[in-house]
Amino acid sequence: MAKHVTIDGNGAVSHVAYAFSDVAAIYPITPSSTMAEYVDEWSAKGRKNLFGQTVHVAEMQSEAGAAGAVHGSLAAGALTSTFTASQGLLLMIPNMYKIAGELLPSVFHVSARSLAAHALSIFGDHADVMACRQTGFALLASGSVQEAQDMALVAHLATLKASIPFLHFFDGFRTSHEIQKIEEIEYEEMAKLVDWDAVKAFRDRALNPEHPHQAGTAQNPDVYFQNREAPNKYYLAVPGIVEKVMEQVGELTGRHYSLFNYEGPEDAEDVIILMGSGTEAVEETITALNKREGTKYGVLKVHLFRPFSAEHFLKALPASVKHVAVLDRTKEPGSLGEPLYQDVCTVLREQGREDIMVVGGRYGLGSKEFTPTMIKAVFDNLHAKEPKNHFTVGINDDLTHTSLELGARLNAAPEGTVSCKFYGLGSDGTVGANKNSIKIIGDHTDLYAQGYFAYDSKKSGGLTVSHLRFGKKPIKSTYQIDFADFIACHNPAYVTAYDMVDSLKEGGVFLLNSPWTAEEMDSRLPAHMKQQLARKKARFYNIDAIKLAAEVKMGTRINTIMQAAFFKLAQVIPYEDADRYMKEYAKKTYGRKGDAVVKKNWDAIDIAISGLKEIPVPERWANATEGAEAPKVEATEYFDKVVRPILGQEGDKLPVSAFSPDGTVPTGTTKYEKRGIAVNVPEWQIDNCIQCNQCSLVCPHAVIRPYLIKEGTEKPETFATKKALGKEFAGYEFRIQVSPLDCTGCGNCAEVCPSKEKALVMKPLDGQVAAQEANAEFAAKLPEFKGEVNKNTIKGSQFLKPLFEFSGACAGCGETPYVKLVTQLFGDRMIIANATGCSSIYGGSSPTVPYTTNDEGHGPAWANSLFEDNAEFGFGMNLAYNQRRAKMAEVVEKLIAVEYATAEIKEAGKAWLESGNNADASKAASAKLVAACEEGIVEGCTCDACTLAREVLAGKDVLIKKSIWIF
Ligand code: SF4
Ligand code: SF4
Repeated sequence: MAKHVTIDGNGAVSHVAYAFSDVAAIYPITPSSTMAEYVDEWSAKGRKNLFGQTVHVAEMQSEAGAAGAVHGSLAAGALTSTFTASQGLLLMIPNMYKIAGELLPSVFHVSARSLAAHALSIFGDHADVMACRQTGFALLASGSVQEAQDMALVAHLATLKASIPFLHFFDGFRTSHEIQKIEEIEYEEMAKLVDWDAVKAFRDRALNPEHPHQAGTAQNPDVYFQNREAPNKYYLAVPGIVEKVMEQVGELTGRHYSLFNYEGPEDAEDVIILMGSGTEAVEETITALNKREGTKYGVLKVHLFRPFSAEHFLKALPASVKHVAVLDRTKEPGSLGEPLYQDVCTVLREQGREDIMVVGGRYGLGSKEFTPTMIKAVFDNLHAKEPKNHFTVGINDDLTHTSLELGARLNAAPEGTVSCKFYGLGSDGTVGANKNSIKIIGDHTDLYAQGYFAYDSKKSGGLTVSHLRFGKKPIKSTYQIDFADFIACHNPAYVTAYDMVDSLKEGGVFLLNSPWTAEEMDSRLPAHMKQQLARKKARFYNIDAIKLAAEVKMGTRINTIMQAAFFKLAQVIPYEDADRYMKEYAKKTYGRKGDAVVKKNWDAIDIAISGLKEIPVPERWANATEGAEAPKVEATEYFDKVVRPILGQEGDKLPVSAFSPDGTVPTGTTKYEKRGIAVNVPEWQIDNCIQCNQCSLVCPHAVIRPYLIKEGTEKPETFATKKALGKEFAGYEFRIQVSPLDCTGCGNCAEVCPSKEKALVMKPLDGQVAAQEANAEFAAKLPEFKGEVNKNTIKGSQFLKPLFEFSGACAGCGETPYVKLVTQLFGDRMIIANATGCSSIYGGSSPTVPYTTNDEGHGPAWANSLFEDNAEFGFGMNLAYNQRRAKMAEVVEKLIAVEYATAEIKEAGKAWLESGNNADASKAASAKLVAACEEGIVEGCTCDACTLAREVLAGKDVLIKKSIWIF
C-alpha cells in the first residue's frame, strides 16, 4: 500500500534528491530555496541516503560557487546534486558545460523561474531552463507535485546509466510551492531500481592519484571539434535509457510515464503540445470539453525535452492529428519561434508531416495564470479562419496584436471538487492555518487536496490569497480558483478593496471577519458585493474574530478562529472530526510553548463556532447601487490607470500598452495607496509633547512627522499646534501629524516617546481616520520648512522631508527608519544601486514606489541589477557620473575662458569648478551657474559663450554632486 503524504513540489523532489546524493552543494534562490533547506535539515538530523550515509551539505558563496563545487565533487566520485532557479541557474551554466562535457552523472533540480529582464520576477516560467538547452544537460520536465517526485527519481536513475547530467525542472511556485496529496516512494523501493554497477563505474572514474588521469585539458584546432563529437552516442542513448527507467518506475508505482505522454482520444485532430504544470490544466480542460461538447481534443505532454527524440515524439502523437498548437512558457525575443515550437516544426518537417498545421504561442510568463478559458481559446484558434501563429494567450497585447480572444469563463474542474478561497493579511497566520487545514484533510481522508498561496508584493501586511481544493479525483487545476464554493475574507478593509465574491459559485458561502452587525452590513459593504451576494444566492456569515481572539487572549491572531469557522461552514469533513484534528495539530504545533498556549488555541477553536452569525441577504441587494466605497485619493493619471487596478487584483486585465517598454515606472506612488491596515494608530497628545521628534525618527513608514508652520497660516480647526521650541523656529508653530491610513500600527513611535506623560497613545484606526485624515492631507501639502535646521541632530533631521515613505516593509521594520533618514539627509541627490533582498521588495516591488521627491521634484533614483553585482552596478554608476561631470567641467572651463562671457557666468563657473565636489556647496553653485547661463544667453546667438552656456544648460542635471548609495 502506497504511503500518502501531503507535501509541496520542492519537498517531493528533495525526498528523492536526498536519497541519491552523497553531497549537495547549495545556494538559496527563490523558489528553489526550500529544496536545499529540506536537504540541509534532513542532513542535520542525520537522515541516511541510499548509500547509508548522511548527505554532506555545503552552502557556497553563490550559485557559480555551488556549480563549481558540484563539478569538483562529481569529478572526485561523489554523487552530487544542487537546486536552483533563474539567474542562479544562469550562473551555473559555465560549469554545466564542463559537467556535461566530462560525462559526469548528476541532477540539478530547478524550480523554473523567469529571468530578470525589464523587471525581476520571482515567479515561474521556463526562461531559465531554456537558457541551458545548449549546455549538454538532458532536460526533463514535470507538471505536478506527484510528477516532480517521480521525474526526480527518473532523472537520478537515468543519469547514472547515461553518464549525462540531468536538469530536472518543474514550474516555480505553481509546482514547487503547491501542496498536493501524493504517493511517496520509499527509499527501499528506490534502491531496488538503482544500477549499482553504474554507481561503481562512476566512482571508479573519479580523479584519484592511485590511478590518475587528467580532465579538462586545453585543445587546439586540430582536435577540439572531433572530441566534441565523441560523446554523441551517449546522447543518442539517453531517450532509450529514460524510456526504460520510466517503465521501471511505472512498474513500481503504477504511474506510467513516457518521454512524451499523450492524453486524449486516439483519433484526436487538435492537439496542444507543452511541458510543465500547464499540461495538467490542459488535460483537465480537454477531459471536460470532450465529455461535455464531444470535441476530440488531445494534449501531448513533453517530459524529455533534451535530447529531443523525434522517434518517440511521432510515436506518441496520434496519426489522426491535423492541427497542433505548441505552447512555450518563455519568450526568446527576435527568434523565429520559441524553443518547443521550433523543435516540433523541425521534427514534422524532417519527417515529411507538412500536412499537420502547426502554430506556436506563448503563455504563462512570470506565473501568469493559464486557465481552461485560455486553453479553450488556443483550441478555438486552431479552427479560426486565419489561425494566429506566434500568439500570446492570457494577456491583451494591444500593441502588436498577438493575443487570442478569450470566450466565456470555463469551469473544467471535475464534479465534486470543493474549492475554497481565503483573503488574508500577510503575517496574520491565514496561510499557515490553511496549510494546516490541507494537511488535516489530506492526512485524514481519502480526498485529494491541493493548496496554492498567492501573495502580493508587500513584505507583510499585504494581501494573501489561499486557494484550497479538495476532491475525490486527483486535482489537475494548476491555476487559481475561479469558481469557489467557499470564500473567506479575513480583513474587513478588503470589502471595498477587492472584488472577492466575483468568483463565488451560485449558492456558495461567503465568510467575513468584521465587527459589523447584520444591520450595519447594508452600509459597510460596497454595492457590487451586495449585488453579487444576492444574485448568487450566497450564504453569508460574519464572525468578529478580532473580538473573539481578544476574549481568549490571542491578541490579534485570528487564524485559529477563522480556521474553525471554515471547517464548520465548508463541511469538507464532519466538523466533529475537524475539531479533533485541529486540536491535535495545535498540540503538536504549540506543545513546545507550554500548555497555556495550547489551551488558548483550543479555546479559540471552541469560541469560534459560537461567534458565527448567518447574515440574511435581502433580495433588494441584487439591485443595490449604494454602499461603502474605498477611500478616494486624488492621484496621478498613471496611478489611476495602472497602479490602482493592480492594487485591486485586476492587474491581469491591463493591456500591454499600459507599460513602458523598458519597464521604468514613476516614483512617489505609495502615498496614494492608503492601505488602512493598522488595528490601532497613534494619537498625538499635544500637551504632553516635548518636541523631540524621536517618534518620527523611529517610524519605519514615515507616517508620523513633525511639521513647522508659519504663525497665522490658515489651517483646519482640528489642526491644533503649539509654539515651536527653539530660537531658530521663532515665528513657527509645531505639530506632530500622523497619517492613519498609511500607518501599520507597529507602535514603535508610542513606545519610543520619552515624554513623562505619553504624548502618543494608540487608538483604534476607525476613529483616527475620522479625526485625522483631513489633517494628514493638509499637512502633506504644507510647504517644506526652508529655514536653517541642524540636520546633524535627531530633532533637526526630522524636519527634512523623508524621500522614502509608506513602504511595504513589515510593520515595525528596523531597517527602513535608517533608509528614511538617509533620504532625508541625501535623497535629493541620490542614486541607489539596490542590493536584492528585503530592500528590493519594500523599495522596488510593483506596483508602487516608496521613494519620492521633494518640492523641487528631486529625489532618489533607484535601480536593481542582479543579486550578485550591486556593488559593481553602483561602481558603474559612479564611473558614469565622474566621467559626465568631468566633461561638464571641461565645458565650464572653456566657457569661463571665453573673454566676453558675462562676469556672472565667469564668477558662477569658477565657483562651481571649485566646489563641484562638495555636496552641499555644489547645490548652491549649480543653481548660480544655471541662472547665470540662462541670463547670459542671447537668443539666436552662436558665439562661443552662448554655445557653451547652452551646453551647460543641456547637461545641467549633472551639475550637483551625486551620491551613489549601494544598498
Ligand atoms: Fe509609524 Fe508604527 Fe507609529 Fe504607525 S505606529 S506612526 S507605522 S511608528
Ligand atoms: Fe512629541 Fe513624543 Fe514625538 Fe517626542 S516622541 S515629538 S514627545 S510625540
